[in-house]
Amino acid sequence: MAFILGVSKKYHPSEFGGMLRGKNDVIEEVLVIPATTYGNGFVDTRMDMIPIDHSIIGSVHSHPGSDYRPSRADLEFFLKTGPVHLIARSPYAGITDVAAYDRSGKRIRLSILQ
Ligand SMILES: [Zn+2]
Repeated sequence: MAFILGVSKKYHPSEFGGMLRGKNDVIEEVLVIPATTYGNGFVDTRMDMIPIDHSIIGSVHSHPGSDYRPSRADLEFFLKTGPVHLIARSPYAGITDVAAYDRSGKRIRLSILQ
């Protein structure tokens, strides 16, 4: 989680985007998508930039504003990429600035395993 917040801050005011790798709905690793796509909006990320990897369970991206609700384009992307999606909002201060959604864009609970 600290990693996601840190990378989001680093790319602010651009969006940061990445894929989540894990098992079931437990996120084990964050793959940062190549830097050439930053600033164009995460949803413009070409699907062929994303490694083919069956441990990909979803996506993460940041919103430079204070709203972490998924956009219409985000929702379309969620449908294609897996069951768990995170959106971090500015100022990326802590877990209250990160929201988790399922494939259909419904808010789901996010908890940190120690
Ligand atoms: Zn978005």
